[in-house]
Amino acid sequence: MEVYFTIIVFIFGTLLGSFYNVVGYRLPKGLSLIKPGSFCPKCNHSLKWYELIPVLSFMIQRGKCRECKCKISWFYPTIEFTTGILFMISYLIFGFSVEFFIACVIVTFFVIVIVSDTNYLVIPDEVTIFLSALVIIVKFAFFGVKVGIESVLSGVFLFVVMYLIMLLGNKLFKKESLGGGDIKLMFFVGTILSPINGMFQIFLSSFFALPISMYVYLKNKNRIIPFGPFMLLALLVIYLLQLDVATMLFRF
Ligand SMILES: [Zn+2]
Repeated sequence: MEVYFTIIVFIFGTLLGSFYNVVGYRLPKGLSLIKPGSFCPKCNHSLKWYELIPVLSFMIQRGKCRECKCKISWFYPTIEFTTGILFMISYLIFGFSVEFFIACVIVTFFVIVIVSDTNYLVIPDEVTIFLSALVIIVKFAFFGVKVGIESVLSGVFLFVVMYLIMLLGNKLFKKESLGGGDIKLMFFVGTILSPINGMFQIFLSSFFALPISMYVYLKNKNRIIPFGPFMLLALLVIYLLQLDVATMLFRF
């Protein structure tokens, strides 16, 4: 039974991942998420249901459009597969629970931001607002008013901290160090993590981003690295491993 649910969660994740591709590509351009349906960007032929099966269609068609045989980016199936795997890991850790739901919300944000931030250097406000509101509502509904209010306050606190880091960064580097999207994203982080764990998340984000930024900087000095995906990766790692600064400090 357990295996059965795990597979269903994986498939459900890949289907949502396919939708998150659409959200990440279209929302920053102000395009509708529903119309038109998916089509080949080269020959414009609209995709049938059997060309839209996550991961599988790509493999069966060997990464090519059925109509014009042009190459389809491996980015799409990778996003679908990643969403499925991360949903599955969340389920294996938390089972069907509120924590599982929140983990899926983080995965959702992570995947959409990988698409939108790497392609357009944008984190759509609509997504930040919608997902933050979702977490806050869930906290109020399942953990009570006190926890609900705490999550909003933590969000505001971390938003301010990130804003101050940006001011400091702009002074030090004499150019824009963090985007507005990153600062708003920090509010979302706060709705999930406590202020102190949120500070740890900022540290961990930089820790993840540093080696990759250095590598890209050495290859191309003008390339800008989006920070959003690293912030959400750090949040996801902390949430899934249930890391807590207070307990970690206590241990040493
Ligand atoms: Zn085509």
